[in-house]
Amino acid sequence: MVVLLKSVNFVGENIKRKVFYFDKKVSKRHNADTYYINILNSNIMDAKKVLEDLKRRFPNEPEYHQAVEEVLGTIEEEYNKHPEFDKVNLIERLCIPDRVYQFRVTWQDDKGNIQTNMGYRIQHNNAIGPYKGGIRFHASVNLGILKFLAFEQTFKNSLTTLPMGGGKGGSDFSPRGKSNAEVMRFCQAFMLELTRHIGPNIDVPAGDIGVGGREVGYMFGVYKKLTRDFSGVLTGKGLEFGGSLIRPEATGYGTVYFLRAMLKTKGDSIEGKKVLISGAGNVAQYAAEKVLQLGGKVMTMSDSDGYIYDPDGIDREKLDYIMELKNVYRGRIREYVDQYPTAKYVGDGAKPWFEKADIALPCATQNELNEEQAKALVANGVIAVAEGANMPSTPGAIRVFQEAKILYSPGKASNAGGVSVSGLEMSQNSERLSWSAEEVDAKLLWIMENIHENCVKYGTEPDGYVNYVKGANVAGFMKVAKAMMAQGIV
Ligand code: NDP
Repeated sequence: MVVLLKSVNFVGENIKRKVFYFDKKVSKRHNADTYYINILNSNIMDAKKVLEDLKRRFPNEPEYHQAVEEVLGTIEEEYNKHPEFDKVNLIERLCIPDRVYQFRVTWQDDKGNIQTNMGYRIQHNNAIGPYKGGIRFHASVNLGILKFLAFEQTFKNSLTTLPMGGGKGGSDFSPRGKSNAEVMRFCQAFMLELTRHIGPNIDVPAGDIGVGGREVGYMFGVYKKLTRDFSGVLTGKGLEFGGSLIRPEATGYGTVYFLRAMLKTKGDSIEGKKVLISGAGNVAQYAAEKVLQLGGKVMTMSDSDGYIYDPDGIDREKLDYIMELKNVYRGRIREYVDQYPTAKYVGDGAKPWFEKADIALPCATQNELNEEQAKALVANGVIAVAEGANMPSTPGAIRVFQEAKILYSPGKASNAGGVSVSGLEMSQNSERLSWSAEEVDAKLLWIMENIHENCVKYGTEPDGYVNYVKGANVAGFMKVAKAMMAQGIV
């Protein structure tokens, strides 16, 4: 029997392993060499091998592979300090979702045609609480994208300090261009199936891309009709039926609270800084609002068609215009320049990352900021990038930010404010109480600063640079891992 005492210099498959072990049979310490590597491997995670295995078993899911790779690369060292983890194959059980539901959604459009879409719910991990994570309605939705989001959500929810497991769901239905009646019929059809799989103590969905207050309301209505149960089964509900104050604002505000905490480590602040924001949806709108409140200048916003750049800055009145354009008229961002002609519009799906600014907040979607764009941001003097979206920066972009040693936070840390206030909405629903906006906002701020502290604790490198990716992954992982260990092999 071999007991691992200490492992050092362990880097993936690099056999520069210097492992000291204690062999009970011979009762003496040895300097490990390849003879014992096979035995020791049974208690050591090999990130490269785990990833290769996942790619082989689940091909054609590149976003899922990308998310897993990022996490494994940063937790490997910490994981291998705990040989008990690998003894129970914890890493594979943490990467592969507990359960995946896939179903056909059939609905009728306004012309009477019958339409079909795919519906999904990924219940990734419920070691620390009920599955929790948003629902995305977007034409690009597929299994791999939702698996990446559910995987990320597990670590994010762990970081919030609240008792929530990780899940995600959605459909390749696009609300864009659909009438209200069509959106309602789709939500009802989607929920006819999803209702069987969720519950206030089982799985609690919320909004995400394409799913806001309107869609959550329609889905809640069907759930209630089918189950006769008025409970906090969805978050992001309207205020009149159990929603929380500050939930719509939470992801955007939380991202900017996190940004402020990062800047503070450098003795800096948001005041007077020029900020590039991508997206013009829920997260982008409230990130912009908080930047304005803290004295920053918002230069850009975007949608999937292109971006607008306003040299005078998008002030409160202009942001109100964008909110009305997007939330009420469901228009396109290019219409901004008709209203404010001193601004420019760049179309063809262009991103705002080549504009000059101090700070970048990607708040639209995954992989919307690549290596070349990251280089342009750094060359233009950006000092901080805080992700409001999930996985908006490609691995190449992250490398550029970290090599330039600028402040960079991954979405699972900086956008955790949304799910945090969802967690607070669940608490209010359970208590049958509603908290004031000030109370919720104060809790949100506390959670974001706590996540920041944990990232600093687990992510500070020997030269003092804070690797927020590593910090968030290790902190999020350890809590889930300990809960899984305590609950046995299930
Ligand atoms: P919304 O649907 O409200 O807004 C999404 C915005 O991103 C829209 O402006 C949309 O433009 C744009 N967008 C979507 N897809 C693309 C694409 N492929 N290329 C370029 N632009 C695109 O979603 P949210 O604001 O809620 O979500 C934005 C991001 O934040 C997502 O990554 C989401 O997962 C993440 N997030 C959201 C949370 C929340 O509480 N809502 C919580 C945590 C993370 P268009 O209108 O043209 O599609």
